Amino acid sequence: MLPYYELKDPRFRSLIQPQAHLEQVATGFRWAEGPVWFPAAQVLLFSDIPNQRIMRLTPDGQLSVFRQPSGFANGHTRDREGRLVSCHHGLRAVTRTEHDGSVTMIADRFDGGQLNSPNDVVVKSDGSIWFTDPTYGILGDYEGYRSDPEQPVHGVYRVGTDGAITRVVHDDFVQPNGLAFSPDESELYIAESGSSHDASVPSIIRAYPVQGDTLGRPRVHCTIDAGLPDGFRVDRSGNIWCSAADGIQVFAPDGVMIGKIKVPEVVANLTFGGPAQNRLFITATTSVYAIYVEAMPCGWPDDQT
Ligand code: MG
Repeated sequence: MLPYYELKDPRFRSLIQPQAHLEQVATGFRWAEGPVWFPAAQVLLFSDIPNQRIMRLTPDGQLSVFRQPSGFANGHTRDREGRLVSCHHGLRAVTRTEHDGSVTMIADRFDGGQLNSPNDVVVKSDGSIWFTDPTYGILGDYEGYRSDPEQPVHGVYRVGTDGAITRVVHDDFVQPNGLAFSPDESELYIAESGSSHDASVPSIIRAYPVQGDTLGRPRVHCTIDAGLPDGFRVDRSGNIWCSAADGIQVFAPDGVMIGKIKVPEVVANLTFGGPAQNRLFITATTSVYAIYVEAMPCGWPDDQT
């Protein structure tokens, strides 16, 4: 059997499990996105955006619908209290699902206008919520509702624990997409996926220095060489595991591509999961794939909510 991975740099060797193999653990979706793992419940949730549903997958392969309609939910994350935080194209909003199942609006407007279509979200250790707001969910009726943008830019926003929303990135991006903090939260990484509609846009992840509640001047951190960067995760050693057209591309903390995990469908996003948090769950077009790796997410094992 051909290896499922491609070694670009010796540093990748310690991150992969050579005995592992890529498993297709679920299929039958239109566009799978936004995987999030709940350690306390040992379940994976993810979006099937065009089908307006959030799916639930258990480690033994039991698949069920968690919520439908989902407001065209896209990216999800888990906050420090173990609650689901979600982006919705259809609602043009970010919400939080409380432990009792009720849904709290986190952000749907800024400066007098509706948001475009929040895409992906991350929660900082201080409880603040950071999300990207490209226009993918309002460009047509497949992944949301066709609408005119009411924001002058495709920005990135921060919502404080007091509910105050600020725009932390204005017009640096054609389409900002996945985002994640470095392990010490000194940097915020944000993916540029604008090549989806304009081939001249570079497929890069920018790194922003975090300066309190704001961001400093960015630099280009790494470049994806197949398709575009959508969702990505940072492991606790600071490596970036990024979605791409040919699978997952892995970048060391210095931004060098050190290897790839090949996936037979275009990858939109991924998350760490499983009992030891060493299993990558990969949402890739019509399917979810899983692979055991020698890496773990930021915060683990302290954060087991
Ligand atoms: Mg995305």
